[in-house]
Amino acid sequence: MVASIKPHRDEAGLTDGQLLIDGAWGPSSAEQTWIHSHPATGEEVASFPVAGAEDVDRAVRAARRAFDEGPWPKTRAGERIRLLRKISDLVREHGDELLALQALDNSVPLSFGAVYGMSGGMVADVFDHHAGWVDKLAGDTLPGYQGGEHLVMTLREPIGVVGAIVPWNAPLLLTAQKLAPALAAGCTIVLKPSEYATFSVLRLVRLIEEAGLPAGVLNVVTGPGDPTGDALIHHPLVDKISFTGSRAVGRKIIEASAGTFKRLSLELGGKSPALVFADADVATSAMLTMGTVTLGLSGQVCLAQTRALVQRDAVDEFLGTSEMIAGMVSYGNPFDPAVSSSPLINTRQLDRVLGLIERGQAEGARLICGGTRGEGDLAAGNFVAPTLFTDVHNDMTIAREEVFGPVLSVIPFTDEEEAIKIANATEYGLAATVWTSDIKRAIRLSKAVRAGTVGVNGYQLEPHAAFGGYRQSGIGREGGRTAIEAYTELKTVMIPYTDEMM
Ligand code: NAD
Repeated sequence: MVASIKPHRDEAGLTDGQLLIDGAWGPSSAEQTWIHSHPATGEEVASFPVAGAEDVDRAVRAARRAFDEGPWPKTRAGERIRLLRKISDLVREHGDELLALQALDNSVPLSFGAVYGMSGGMVADVFDHHAGWVDKLAGDTLPGYQGGEHLVMTLREPIGVVGAIVPWNAPLLLTAQKLAPALAAGCTIVLKPSEYATFSVLRLVRLIEEAGLPAGVLNVVTGPGDPTGDALIHHPLVDKISFTGSRAVGRKIIEASAGTFKRLSLELGGKSPALVFADADVATSAMLTMGTVTLGLSGQVCLAQTRALVQRDAVDEFLGTSEMIAGMVSYGNPFDPAVSSSPLINTRQLDRVLGLIERGQAEGARLICGGTRGEGDLAAGNFVAPTLFTDVHNDMTIAREEVFGPVLSVIPFTDEEEAIKIANATEYGLAATVWTSDIKRAIRLSKAVRAGTVGVNGYQLEPHAAFGGYRQSGIGREGGRTAIEAYTELKTVMIPYTDEMM
């Protein structure tokens, strides 16, 4: 048996969750609760209220009042900067506590949380980064085009009430990527964390409160997509939905936004390729590619490079190193420093991943290792052995669908032209890596691959670099100027400065 996580719950001081509406924490009026079961052990961790439509309405109205009546959207730049930096300091100070709560939520091992951008450090960096934009949100002053003498200028104004909906896999980082630019721009927010990762987000919200955010500026409604998320995306007083999650829910949000033409930022899934040429450092490419698919979150990462396109001469070496990485994966209690990787988040996802593995075999892919559910000590958790397929064709289900589990598909190719064709033959376009020692090829490929981020001989998350997807991987970008601008409307102001009209 994996050791019980309950002692860690007590150590972290974890208690049942509550809703935050207009500065007051409390229960839901629906009197429904959600019990969170830990993915590594199946133990019940704690519960939180499920916000119904009435609670969501109260939260949205509180955010609306805080926006329309202020003072938050009208606060001076210096004040907003100080607050965001204070949040950043508090997050750094409480980094270990946040990581422990995240492990209680989604079972991401402590040994990994600090490395893979989910630690207090990177979450704090996101608040620092956006604090830096507050006093740089500038418009333009334009020369007159027509006859009259007008001062023509543009202003960036906060977009209004933002409904922020986040997934469970990197709850702290992805919440920060929404709250920091929204607060920096002067928006007010109703946040809905994932029902599978609520407690770490609630703690982050407490820290934000402690930093001194006025009541009503940030409200939190907890619960699943139905009823909580659904009520938020359909609420007519919400100006923008900022969502990170699956393509299926992204589609529902697009449909729901049609009612009131809500602004949208959507960070969705991926089926990202790694393009590995025989002239590359093949072992390193395999370590990183198999690593993104098995270590830490066990492939439950939007940017995981789950299609390894490998030049035929390099396939054997690539498979050998990937299998070695698979052998290094250790599962168990996320608080054990020897544990490297997480279970799948829930039994629904466990069944889905096992089904896709079966489908891969049935469609003719060759299984090199893994493919089975964790047994013995691991049987109570949602563990799947690190899985490696080769001889995969790009039209097989495992090469087309986002698996969101520890499954890497190796697709052999012959030349550059074929590699580009396979890489782009996907409905997604989130990330890619190119592995080659030929600089000209690296540049050609970086331009040819249709994806929001391309890594050349490596890949890392950067909180200040624009991140997002082409095609069905999303709409908009997080990080950088584009991210904060996405929480603003652009207004043009014209002022004649002579008495002569055109
Ligand atoms: P999900 O779409 O099931 O859930 C995401 C959030 O949406 C949760 O808070 C959920 O409760 C809510 N939700 C579900 N149904 C809803 C509805 N009808 N209306 C409103 N809200 C609803 O996704 P998940 O399983 O939590 O996360 C995995 C997905 O997220 C993967 O597809 C992954 O690729 C994607 N993801 C993308 C990025 C990125 O930056 N592009 C980052 C991480 C994860």
